[in-house]
Amino acid sequence: MVKEIDNNNTRLFLCEICKLGYDDVKFAQMCEHHCNASNSCSLEITKHAVLK
Ligand SMILES: [Zn+2]
Repeated sequence: MVKEIDNNNTRLFLCEICKLGYDDVKFAQMCEHHCNASNSCSLEITKHAVLK
C-alpha cells in the first residue's frame, strides 16, 4: 500500500517497498507496482521521486 506522509507540510506518497517518496500518488503506485513485480526499481519511475 502506498503510504501518505506529511513532509514539511507537503503531502508525499511513499512506496512502502523501496521507501521513495513522490509528490504524485500516481508515481508512488507505479513504483510500488514495479517494486512488487520485479523486486527492483525502475529509473523511469524513480527519477520522479522527491524524497529518498
Ligand atoms: Zn518502489
